[in-house]
Amino acid sequence: MNGTLTYHKIIQSFKSLGLKRDTPIIAHISLKSLGDVKGGAETVLGALLATADNVMMPSFTYRTMVIPEFGPEDNAVTYGSARYQNLNAEIFTSSMSTDLPDSQVVEALRYYPDISRSQHPILSFTGLGLDTALESQTLEKPYGHIAAMMSQNAWVLLMGTKPSQNFSLHYAEQLAGRKQFTRWALTPTGIVECPHFPGCPEGFHKVLYHLEGELYRTQVGDTTWYYMSLDNLISVASNLIKEDPYTLLCNELSCKRCNAVRRAIRKESSSQSLKDS
Ligand SMILES: [Zn+2]
Repeated sequence: MNGTLTYHKIIQSFKSLGLKRDTPIIAHISLKSLGDVKGGAETVLGALLATADNVMMPSFTYRTMVIPEFGPEDNAVTYGSARYQNLNAEIFTSSMSTDLPDSQVVEALRYYPDISRSQHPILSFTGLGLDTALESQTLEKPYGHIAAMMSQNAWVLLMGTKPSQNFSLHYAEQLAGRKQFTRWALTPTGIVECPHFPGCPEGFHKVLYHLEGELYRTQVGDTTWYYMSLDNLISVASNLIKEDPYTLLCNELSCKRCNAVRRAIRKESSSQSLKDS
């Protein structure tokens, strides 16, 4: 570790990655992994907003989730298993704090003037200067804001976070036709169904080898920061999945969501071979 991380060191690192003022950014930031930061989350956020005008970050709220008694099959969920936890679920509101484990920077952003937040009850994002993109995320289109960011030539910043935090890749999974899941959440209008819920991201690091020129990285203390073109990320990842439907899944044998995806692929290919024969 190279001692305390300062505002100037963060700015320098952003410059070396190629961040530009007019390029919108989807940022995933782990303050904990950055070690000792002088001024903490406020310093990190200040440096980011001094470098780029338009930024969004995940502000997820898993504590709105409920598990019903029945639902679609092969959904990596045990129906009826959360009768007690369901009683403690909270109704989503725009002012709800995020409950991601390492969320100090997005929590600092939530109190920034002029921010807006998308209204997905579980997978909301909070951003600055990106209202139209954020409005594109809906229950039916949980990756609508990612698509909107692609049309604005956005880039993704991973700052001390694991590549598995790269949420945009779930949009590539959807585009490639990969099985996704259904979850449910409490909203002011009652329990709502949340389709296209993401699968397991633990195999996402495998995409980094394929991004070539559109990926920049820099070592800061003990962490690697990545900066990548969203457009390239989505097209490379969705093509990889179309070529090999098992790619970017994790290697954990007991992973419920990855195993459900594998079963869906096998089912699809056996029905395809029946059609072909
Ligand atoms: Zn998995």
